[in-house]
Amino acid sequence: MTCLVCGDPATVKSHLTPRAFTLDIRGADTRAYEGSLALEGTRYTQAGTFDRTILCDVHEQALRECDDYAIDWVRRVSTEARASHEGMLLHMPNPRPDLLLRFVCSHIWRHAVSPQNRAFDMDLSAWEWQLRQLIFGSGSRYNPTFHIFRQRWTSEGAELKELLVAPHRLPGQGRRRWEFDLGGLLWVLRLNERHVDHGLESLKANGADPVRILVLDDRELTDRPGVLDIAVNMFRERYLREQREAGGA
Ligand SMILES: [Zn+2]
Repeated sequence: MTCLVCGDPATVKSHLTPRAFTLDIRGADTRAYEGSLALEGTRYTQAGTFDRTILCDVHEQALRECDDYAIDWVRRVSTEARASHEGMLLHMPNPRPDLLLRFVCSHIWRHAVSPQNRAFDMDLSAWEWQLRQLIFGSGSRYNPTFHIFRQRWTSEGAELKELLVAPHRLPGQGRRRWEFDLGGLLWVLRLNERHVDHGLESLKANGADPVRILVLDDRELTDRPGVLDIAVNMFRERYLREQREAGGA
């Protein structure tokens, strides 16, 4: 394989989700838990899933600016976001909305183009080129709409911070809508806007400073079968580790 941007045959290790996110969410655990809800069903992958075949060093480094921005931004939400409407809405400063958009697009693009995911329906079709121009080019006018929601996954009321749901499409939502769960937030990207949802128009994150984050009700992991599968793996790993630590102590 060669770099998907420039064709350089010297490709490097590229994390599909920035590693800091998996380190943040895993806390004291030895690894984090990442899964995806693809149309074909659930897959479970270890934290820090990476690919060595999609980007050269130059283009891997080109993602650093938007990755670093998003990592820092997500870390600050819990302390810097200002609540209004009785806690239903959060207002989060966002001095570089362009970098947040690039992060959302590149996170989805990385997972979609990785050969590791070829078993899943991750085809971006013509939008792949548009996303690639936006992420790595300059002067792209492509500006796909994205929204960010506060969405906590819980188990019997306790937040499961370790859960990271990789980019995927939702069954029945067409090929344009992608989403992922990261840092207690649900990120939704529409590759193009056929039907403008006027209710969400005022919550668009594109160009927004501050970004307005709608707070959704907490969801029990049992709400969605795929998420439950990811969590089962998580709990199994945690259980096995605790057994090992108890045995080794
Ligand atoms: Zn390259």
